[in-house]
Amino acid sequence: MKCPFCSSDNDSVRDSRIVEDGKAIRRRRFCNGCKRRFTTYERVEGLLQVIKRGGDHEDFSRAKIERGLAAACWKRKVSVEQIQTLAAEIEAHILDTYEKEVTSEEIGNLCMEFLRELDQVAFVRFASVYRRFSDIQDFVEELRPILKGTPRRVD
Ligand SMILES: [Zn+2]
Repeated sequence: MKCPFCSSDNDSVRDSRIVEDGKAIRRRRFCNGCKRRFTTYERVEGLLQVIKRGGDHEDFSRAKIERGLAAACWKRKVSVEQIQTLAAEIEAHILDTYEKEVTSEEIGNLCMEFLRELDQVAFVRFASVYRRFSDIQDFVEELRPILKGTPRRVD
């Protein structure tokens, strides 16, 4: 950890203790360069925030992606396991790529990209309907009656 006084990167931890009711670790550090002391705190990073088109934020949720994918794959030969795997892959990609926030649009684009590999019809459904909505949940709710109203195979 760089010393805030002299910027040298050579310190010793003199004391570590759990604080804030177990939510943080406080470390007292001693700079071997300028011999001053400073303190650092270690906390769990907050959940990735999804920024919706309207500007609202919400916690990132894989379950939401799963529901969106499931709606797009309605009556297609895609198993629940495939959808879960896909959602897990998308989540892993998002958590690798975005540190603090991601827009719902970026998530939607990613879902389309992954869906395209899996099922063309599901991809087209997702692409044509999703773009109009700010959020996967809105998308699912809108898509449900449309799909129910579809009497037979969509392809
Ligand atoms: Zn220093």
